[in-house]
Amino acid sequence: MIYLDNNSTTQCAPEAVAAMLSCFSTNYANSASAHSMGRLAKTAVENAREELAALLDCAPTELLFTSGATESNNLVIQGIKTVESRNQIVTSSIEHKSILESCVQAERANVHVNYLPVDTCGRVSVETADNIINDKTLLVSIHAANNEVGTIQPVQSLAKRAHQRGALFHCDATQALGKVPFSISEAGVDFASFSGHKIYGPKGIGLLFARHGTVHKTLKPIHFGGGQEQGLRPGTLNVAGIIGFAKAATLALSRLAADQLEIRRLRELFTNEVSTKQLPVLFNGCRDEGLPGTISLTIPGVPADMLISNMPDICISTGAACTAGAISPSHVLLAMGMSREDAECTVRISIGRYNTEAEMLLAAACIKDTALRLRMELGI
Ligand code: PMP
Repeated sequence: MIYLDNNSTTQCAPEAVAAMLSCFSTNYANSASAHSMGRLAKTAVENAREELAALLDCAPTELLFTSGATESNNLVIQGIKTVESRNQIVTSSIEHKSILESCVQAERANVHVNYLPVDTCGRVSVETADNIINDKTLLVSIHAANNEVGTIQPVQSLAKRAHQRGALFHCDATQALGKVPFSISEAGVDFASFSGHKIYGPKGIGLLFARHGTVHKTLKPIHFGGGQEQGLRPGTLNVAGIIGFAKAATLALSRLAADQLEIRRLRELFTNEVSTKQLPVLFNGCRDEGLPGTISLTIPGVPADMLISNMPDICISTGAACTAGAISPSHVLLAMGMSREDAECTVRISIGRYNTEAEMLLAAACIKDTALRLRMELGI
């Protein structure tokens, strides 16, 4: 098996697995329990929170643990307290579905939502955003990097525009963390979402950053029945997940530059190998300016699902895993101006830390040979 679906999820780093093990066997207490084992678990959680806060350049009290970026995104979009004078949310048309579908819920509650368009690279224009954000805007929510095409957004400039109009700014930084430099203070965001399993941590653990002073003024809970996480995210804390997440984040940020360099090299190898005169291929997104490991590849005439089912040993994606299984083509590619036909013939290859040169060459050869054969069979 060659696993090239690292934007969907990643292998858990052995270091993160090792850090978590005692939580399943000896330190398994509920971190909300008052007894000594509970207090031990709570200390472990608070140490992890401090570790993550130092990495993200924020205060520990500004971090809430959630079950993942989906929940963090839902909490911001649906939990934001509306005020009569401000009832508009501005987002982009290529956000993750956890933002877009939360926005649909917000619209049902009479919040007005503006969806910013993107260019053919998948980039939001700061000028367009500037024209749309106004004195009625409550929240602007733009992701740092796109999961399907890897485009990086001008988050800092967008946050500045939002603040100039008195609006709050949320950034879904799920795909940026550990892949490109991302600092909360540099980006100037009020809220940010993160997820453990995209950075070689465990699944089912995420974070919401909420700037000091904003959290209770601006957010209300969307789940009820427990006082955890400042009353904003009730539920027993995922102690093992939290410890694994902190370990994975420390590791990812300490080796960020080295990982970036190697993943870029693997990407070059792959793109050179897959390109040949006989097979027309298109690379989507901003390429060199995007996430180092994300390749969005269109092979005209070769449906992505057919290509994937003909390569059982290669794990790549037709689009975001969360929408895989749905027949409709990617909303991201369509928003970038791609035709339905080409969108249906687009695959995402996402390279990670544990991929090797041999895997890249094998995968490229397999994709090329399979696509050439399918084009012949389809009479193209
Ligand atoms: N936002 C983005 C940009 C993502 O790529 C993903 C994962 N596909 C999510 C949010 C959801 O993250 P999680 O799986 O942690 O809920």
